[in-house]
Amino acid sequence: MKRRALLQGVSLLPLWPHGVASAQTMAYDPADLRHAEALRDAALRDTEALALVTQLATGIGARPAGSEADARAVRWAQDAARRLGLQAVRAEPVPLRIWQRGPGSAQLVAPVQQPLVMAALGNSVPTPEAGLEAEVAWYPDLAALMADTSDRAKGRIVFLDQKTERTRDGSGYGRAVGARINGPVEAARRGAVALALRSIGTDRERIAHTGATRYDLRVPRIPAFAVSVPDAERIAQLHAEGATLRLRVALQARSDVEALTHNVIAEVPGSDLAAEIVLIGAHLDSWDLGQGAVDDGAGVAIVTAAAALIARSRRVPRRTVRVVLFGNEENGFDGARAYGDRYSSVPHQLVGESDFGAGRVWQLASRVQPAALPLVAQLATVLAPMGVAAGTNDGSPGPDAALLMRRHRWPALQLGQDGTRYFDVHHTEHDRIDQIEPDALAQNVACWAATAWLAAQAPLPFGPPTL
Ligand SMILES: [Zn+2]
Repeated sequence: MKRRALLQGVSLLPLWPHGVASAQTMAYDPADLRHAEALRDAALRDTEALALVTQLATGIGARPAGSEADARAVRWAQDAARRLGLQAVRAEPVPLRIWQRGPGSAQLVAPVQQPLVMAALGNSVPTPEAGLEAEVAWYPDLAALMADTSDRAKGRIVFLDQKTERTRDGSGYGRAVGARINGPVEAARRGAVALALRSIGTDRERIAHTGATRYDLRVPRIPAFAVSVPDAERIAQLHAEGATLRLRVALQARSDVEALTHNVIAEVPGSDLAAEIVLIGAHLDSWDLGQGAVDDGAGVAIVTAAAALIARSRRVPRRTVRVVLFGNEENGFDGARAYGDRYSSVPHQLVGESDFGAGRVWQLASRVQPAALPLVAQLATVLAPMGVAAGTNDGSPGPDAALLMRRHRWPALQLGQDGTRYFDVHHTEHDRIDQIEPDALAQNVACWAATAWLAAQAPLPFGPPTL
């Protein structure tokens, strides 16, 4: 039997030479791999990203798209890119309509009086100036509200006690965030006068998490806000005791305000394949609470510092490495859409985005044509000493980049970060520079520098991917 098995093995050999030959043509030049390792090692000793995110978070701070602070961030990003030796630095205008937060407050008025820590959801319509007060229709989550065919919500403030599970990859947020996005429409469909929800976050602090919601033109637009997790737990407890709850909320906001933001672009020009773009992105805007350090000052700093390392190194990339700092990721993706419209006919070798804070990269996933997978495997070996595992070919590269990947069928790589603590501070006043761990930030820069370099040097196109 053993001998027969061996012979069967031998009979398979003729299949191999072809495979080996393909693998050789799909391999990197060893000098390019060595350069990727040199970039990686230099990045781990580099402190530029920390300097950048500190300037952005503490010098400018919160910068909702279209605001005066956003305009300052656009100028700052261009100055920083030029100082770091990047070329073709420019700001491309993105007209948009923005939402602006006004003052807001909420209180529990029965069965006990208690002020609530709240934040209006992005795009929320205002309450009447005097506020509104109503009985609470409490639901454990969005699914329970959607299953409700009674008229319990009618004339009431719907409260969604949607919980956000702490996960490394952000999947807990993915499962919870529908309550924030679709809650107001589902509540209004059932006659509710306002929507309140437990903050979509994993902390237990008295802080509220904002974030975009949306309306449906066929359904009345009702005010929507999040309360802190401890406040939501107090409400849940009173509900469980059988109390009739009443809430009062007053919030002001303006919608559809004409404004202007920009995508900031900076490049390391390529050589023989300069017309092909390796896009490493992040978003420059932030929510109006906190400093926008984690979301997404960290990403801005990571990709800018990574490109600067490539620009400073002695070798010119084959393809053009392009940093894109997108405008208004947080409330409409206007920057990503404008970029796609403008560059739709330009070949993109890669779209990638750092937009998951400053936690360490733990996984490399891809969305490339199958023939490029051996190259992704070689990139993975460069990243492996930093604790990065090889992932699958169904990755998602960050919100703006994912939009571009899907719309234009551009290939993508995803440097998956550890997001275990990301949703403690996401979209809150706690999104501050002190949340950033310098060594983890440098590890991100190392991953992006090696990734961008090897994407630029690849012996074949990464795309088109299978979507
Ligand atoms: Zn973000």
